Amino acid sequence: MGKSEAADILVVGGGIFGLACAHACLDRGRHVTLIDAGPTGGGASGGPVGALSPHPPDRWNEKKAAQLRALAGAEAWWGRIARLSGRDPGYGRVGRYIPLASEAARARAEAHARNAVDLWPAPFRWTLPPRDALSFEAPHGAVFETLSARIDPPRAIAALTDALAARGARLLTGHRVLGVAEGVAETEAGAIAARAILLAPGTGAGPLAARFLGCDPFQAVKGQAARVIPSAPLPAALVYADGLYVVPHADGTAGIGATAENAYAEPLGTDARLDDLLARAAALLPGLAGAEVVRRWAGLRPRGPRPEPMLGALPGSETLFLAAGAFRTGFGMAPLVGEILAALVAGEAPLMPPGFSIAEHLARIAATRRPESN
Ligand SMILES: Cc1cc2nc3c(=O)[nH]c(=O)nc-3n(C[C@H](O)[C@H](O)[C@H](O)COP(=O)(O)OP(=O)(O)OC[C@H]3O[C@@H](n4cnc5c(N)ncnc54)[C@H](O)[C@@H]3O)c2cc1C
Repeated sequence: MGKSEAADILVVGGGIFGLACAHACLDRGRHVTLIDAGPTGGGASGGPVGALSPHPPDRWNEKKAAQLRALAGAEAWWGRIARLSGRDPGYGRVGRYIPLASEAARARAEAHARNAVDLWPAPFRWTLPPRDALSFEAPHGAVFETLSARIDPPRAIAALTDALAARGARLLTGHRVLGVAEGVAETEAGAIAARAILLAPGTGAGPLAARFLGCDPFQAVKGQAARVIPSAPLPAALVYADGLYVVPHADGTAGIGATAENAYAEPLGTDARLDDLLARAAALLPGLAGAEVVRRWAGLRPRGPRPEPMLGALPGSETLFLAAGAFRTGFGMAPLVGEILAALVAGEAPLMPPGFSIAEHLARIAATRRPESN
């Protein structure tokens, strides 16, 4: 595509954020071109886990409320993608167990159950089932909440990609964007002019956006995860224990994740940390002892200065927009992020938690750099 063939909206990045933004723009009748340096889902969005889980109903704020809205609407959102693509994205609202580490944790969980009655919409519940009703060892019992769901990331990306093509979006894969300026992206396929350019390049956001942000505020947090075939049946729901997720998928496999590493020599290599994670999973659920590991995987979570997504028009620009910082919950937040970005591109002021704004993210950097006043 040459500069003379101007696109309406150019989305840079075919991970979960870019794909969700592209769909939301199509919903508003816009014409979308999506470009990715590799295939869609070749970045963090191609992993084996796929947990869609809420924050506990505690110390409530706009961020948690926004996440709740996104998760509550996920079933309909993914159902539509399945219909548009003719593919199964692997979505299932199966709920989640959280084994409790102590009686104090149980008391906190009981308080959360009371909070959920007010904070969570029906039919979603945060409950404490009787200890003898659990199919795994949990001396202090476990929470069971009904809002969590699973998605199968590679299938979900394939469904989103096919749905985009079916809706008439133009997909340019295998072409890196080298730089962006007002209304134009320089790419390996030549310059592409567009009315709006939406940057959703995951950990590639820094090089493209730093010029506008005044710095590169992004970090890439490595995560290792695996997909296994259990040796015996697992609970039908997700299980989450102290950073460890076990996600049972519809095909009988289970996603297990994830490590969180700020320093690493091999960004995409797996090592003994993943073995430790698998050993913890096997100790938690007997069906994972002796499980066959069918995929070992590592990826880089794109993180901004705050753990929330970083969204908005780039400072000083009217045509360049950013959807970055998906960090740990890109799949859960994507439908909402798509809506917000499509509205911003249309010149609207969408409902957005303040912590998602570029200004708030940059303020976090300024706050951490500020010298002690006394
Ligand atoms: C081990 C692990 C487990 C995880 N588990 C979960 C989970 O259970 N649930 C959940 O919700 N989230 C999970 N996450 C987080 C989730 O994967 C991320 O939040 C999400 O995938 C990030 O999506 P993204 O679209 O921002 O980035 P990416 O998926 O990385 O997509 C960015 C895309 O942009 C492209 N790109 C980059 N630079 C350029 C450029 N210059 N030009 C063109 N294209 C470019 C890349 O090729 C890539 O395809 C996990 C992450 C890891 C690492």
